[in-house]
Amino acid sequence: MADMQQDLRELYQEVIFDHNRHPRNFRAMEQASHAADGYNALCGDQLTVYVKVQDDVVVEASFVGHGCAISTASASLMTEAVKGKTVAEVEALFQDMHAMLTEAHPEDRDFGKLEVLAGVREFPSRVKCATLAWHTLHNALAGVRDTAQTE
Ligand code: ZN
Repeated sequence: MADMQQDLRELYQEVIFDHNRHPRNFRAMEQASHAADGYNALCGDQLTVYVKVQDDVVVEASFVGHGCAISTASASLMTEAVKGKTVAEVEALFQDMHAMLTEAHPEDRDFGKLEVLAGVREFPSRVKCATLAWHTLHNALAGVRDTAQTE
């Protein structure tokens, strides 16, 4: 855990700590139209993402689970970011976030609050913590019932 403390210092600590301590939309959703489970074996992060889609718009997103600060903060930020977007916009955001977290930062893209997660790229062992929620959301919207793996 010492490594993680060190990693976090390099990230946008405050926002991540805040979202970890007080995760937004942290609840199961009985009226969800889509849901999926995700598991990051590398860290032990486990979560379930719920979304409610109406007329092709994500009107609600929530999650439950347990994991490290980065996985929880990423899921919390994600549920805020996707609300009100169309399914196509969420899918585009998933692709952009994946690129932002694993490759190069797409230069023409403003990620707003989600920028706080960009720092994990410097810490390969933590990238999957940040991408887990997004993979799980992607699977939920695709109707994939299997547990999302971060591979
Ligand atoms: Zn983790």
